[in-house]
Amino acid sequence: MRLDRTSRRALLLAAAGLVAGVVVGWATGNALIGVSIVALSQFVALLSSIRHRTDPIMATPRQTTDPRHDRLMTRSRRIASQLRDLRSAAGSLPDAVVLMDQAQHVRWFNHAAEDLLGLRRPTDRGRILSECLQTTDLAKWLIDGGREPLNDVTAPGHANRHISATLLPFGSRQRLLLVRDISHMTRLEQIRRDFVANVSHELRTPLTVIHGYLELLDPEDVPELAPVLGEMRVQSRRMGQIVEDLLTLSRLETQDRIADERVTIEPLLATLRREAEALSQGRHRITLTHTAATDLLGSSKDLHSAFSNLVSNAVRYTPTGGRIDIRFEPHAAGVIFSVADSGYGIPATHLARLTERFYRVSSSRSRDSGGTGLGLSIVKHVLNLHHARLQIESEPGKGSTFSAIFGAERLLVPGGEESLAS
Ligand code: ADP
Repeated sequence: MRLDRTSRRALLLAAAGLVAGVVVGWATGNALIGVSIVALSQFVALLSSIRHRTDPIMATPRQTTDPRHDRLMTRSRRIASQLRDLRSAAGSLPDAVVLMDQAQHVRWFNHAAEDLLGLRRPTDRGRILSECLQTTDLAKWLIDGGREPLNDVTAPGHANRHISATLLPFGSRQRLLLVRDISHMTRLEQIRRDFVANVSHELRTPLTVIHGYLELLDPEDVPELAPVLGEMRVQSRRMGQIVEDLLTLSRLETQDRIADERVTIEPLLATLRREAEALSQGRHRITLTHTAATDLLGSSKDLHSAFSNLVSNAVRYTPTGGRIDIRFEPHAAGVIFSVADSGYGIPATHLARLTERFYRVSSSRSRDSGGTGLGLSIVKHVLNLHHARLQIESEPGKGSTFSAIFGAERLLVPGGEESLAS
């Protein structure tokens, strides 16, 4: 039988203790001292054996004649130490991190997860995460699969903090939940929104007064100032429109849901066509195609505002003699409202930014045609509130098509009350 190094060391210690006990007992003539030394040495030998076997690092022989073994031991010690460092770094990350298996059983979480998500150690280890989080938005999102990142919901551990969350695949069959505290950004965003809304509101009254006085002044009384007066009227109207659009945007931004009323499409399309013709003044050929026999569920006022922005853009950015087609048609997702024009078109590099406030492809063209630079931002917000999607296709020199695609849950049978999706 071959004994390992630890057992040999323990055996040697026990044997030495036995010999020492017998010698001391015989030399002193005191059997009790001899027996005590023997017992003590056996105990120490036992302890040393246990200590070396239970501690993997200690169990490793420090000196060995095999250099490969030594290198291996050095590497494993280094990896163990790096793992400890990694764990401690993840533990003190400011973002909440939760490691789960595929069935969402919690395997590990850091300190921020205790704080932000209200997880408790050790009770929540091994539990299904969505059950630990109870009926919060985060739990609902996890139950739904967490495919898209979640933005701006209340933190389960703190009613007054806001979080964003992302679920990532980790290792072969694990998942990592990353949750970030975005309260600071949400607060700044709220301050920005309040500021814009307050400034717009404060500007409204003085602008109305200026506009009123300008209307009272008759250019015929002061012919030499007639061009100046004309320009002042145009600019004060423009400022008034910017303020109104900013107030509309502020209202839409603070809303998280929209009125659920019947939007009757037939009269809405007729109004849009009339508006297009009035704006065009006969400079364009305007057509209307209505093939989807459905009404919409949402806000009549906001949908009219969004659709009429698209129609007005088509007229303003299409030179005289161009074509404008307004369509309301069935679509694979539900229904599609689109406005196609044969106008200037938009280079592809601008498309992604068109719905940003005050973003213009050509500032002078927008200004000359009476634009505020806020129309498409309003369109985007209104469509988001209706869970609809804005699609923009354009080719410079050929024209553009702006489409709003509504899901089946927004469709209503004309004249009835029920949703087509139900
Ligand atoms: P504006 O009041 O300047 O028209 P919008 O937000 O409505 O602001 O549109 C943003 C920009 O998108 C416009 O300045 C214009 O450059 C471009 N744009 C919008 N609609 C069209 C269109 N139908 N054809 C060409 N360019 C367009």
